[in-house]
Amino acid sequence: MSKHVHIIGGGLSGCEAALQLSEMGWKVSLYEMRPNVQTPAHQSDTLAELVCSNSLKSFRHDTGAGLLKAELELLGCKLLEIAKEHSVPAGQALAVDRELFANAVQERILMDENIRLFREEITEIPQGKCIIATGPLTSDKLMASLAQLLGENHLFFFDAIAPIIDTDSIDFNKVYAKTRYDKGEADYLNCAFTKDEYLAFVEALLEGEKHEAREFENEFFKEVNFSFYENCIPIEELAKRGVDTLRHGVMRPMGLEAPGSDEKPYAVIQLRAENNDKTAYNLVGCQTMLRYPEQRRIFRLIPGLENADFLRFGSIHRNSYLNAPMILNPDLSLIANSEVYIAGQLIGVEGYMESIASGMLVAQIIAGKIKVLPPETMLGQLWRKLIEVPQKKRFSPINANFGILPAGDKRVRDKKQKRLLLAERSLDSLKTYLEQKN
Ligand SMILES: Cc1cc2nc3c(=O)[nH]c(=O)nc-3n(C[C@H](O)[C@H](O)[C@H](O)COP(=O)(O)OP(=O)(O)OC[C@H]3O[C@@H](n4cnc5c(N)ncnc54)[C@H](O)[C@@H]3O)c2cc1C
Repeated sequence: MSKHVHIIGGGLSGCEAALQLSEMGWKVSLYEMRPNVQTPAHQSDTLAELVCSNSLKSFRHDTGAGLLKAELELLGCKLLEIAKEHSVPAGQALAVDRELFANAVQERILMDENIRLFREEITEIPQGKCIIATGPLTSDKLMASLAQLLGENHLFFFDAIAPIIDTDSIDFNKVYAKTRYDKGEADYLNCAFTKDEYLAFVEALLEGEKHEAREFENEFFKEVNFSFYENCIPIEELAKRGVDTLRHGVMRPMGLEAPGSDEKPYAVIQLRAENNDKTAYNLVGCQTMLRYPEQRRIFRLIPGLENADFLRFGSIHRNSYLNAPMILNPDLSLIANSEVYIAGQLIGVEGYMESIASGMLVAQIIAGKIKVLPPETMLGQLWRKLIEVPQKKRFSPINANFGILPAGDKRVRDKKQKRLLLAERSLDSLKTYLEQKN
């Protein structure tokens, strides 16, 4: 049997799959269309670029993202290892210096003797074994080929990015470093609002001029329904849900009082470092569809950001994914062509870590290393969700969360304790499975 795979897409899932297969002795042809053809969100021509936040979410085992990371570690995930080498301080979360991370992944790919990198857009599905890992911004021509092969069982929707500002433009007389309830290192900066400031900010968000989604539609997708990526809802959309929605959600002030002050802020916007040198900060939760001049005006209403210098404005982008349960075999290959596998966001997982995880999973399935995973595991359940026909009509992308795990001990009432027990159960079952397999 020829041990060769074409991988289309040099993003998070494609690079993970390539490194995995190479390690297992497979030859890989990896195709990346950038810089010849750009996507609406990528800024560089580097492989494995993170297009939005630099956070790969929590390490804590009582979070879905944290448990998934712990499982991926046991399964030998390559990009997680590289991310840890290039992390920046973010409390109990894993955030990376996006440039160092992407450069390191690319370097590993270029140095790997089993992997050949081609900078070209693939428009037709190649002959032979193939992984399509072209992500939520898959080029239109390839999407058209997939539509031809799969029929109309694919969907698409839109997504929003948060702005990034220059650290030097922050007023540190007002903005202070602190983590919620002083847990861990004070990696986040906080912009505290009085009630009047908050109400003025919410009103400005509601009145701000927005991009019309229509501008971003193209001919190919005009007929298809779209909706927002649920975990990245624009801040102005959240503001529409009620005057207090933001301060009970992304702007909640609890445990974020200014050091040495008893005054409770009415609401808080947090800023997260974009790199180790902390030269730039991301406005957490401020992903937006507002027009650029409006972003400059409205985000400068945030106390301490009156003179904010925007390094990157927020924006919206197309997001594509397939109707996985209707088109996939249990091994994540296509029913229409079992030589072709799908990985990453295109398969219907949601998030950086989930995309990486699916690239790893597909590679290990192809190489025969994994045939099944214990049902107690987060990755096992993500896999199941992709192939099990959902009860509701429309399949929605899935991310790592405790809701997809089989129930635990019902007598345990404390939520955190319950989750920690579920995480322990998952990791124990995965360890046993790996020991037995070896
Ligand atoms: C705007 C936006 C913001 C996002 N923000 C977040 C976030 O903050 N946090 C989070 O967890 N997730 C986020 N996501 C979701 C998702 O986690 C990322 O998109 C992630 O990068 C998906 O990984 P992937 O490997 O599937 O695709 P990608 O990392 O996008 O990789 C796909 C690659 O395929 C290439 N390609 C596309 N078509 C072709 C073709 N025909 N031929 C050759 N190459 C091709 C692309 O250029 C790209 O490099 C966001 C998605 C979008 C679109």
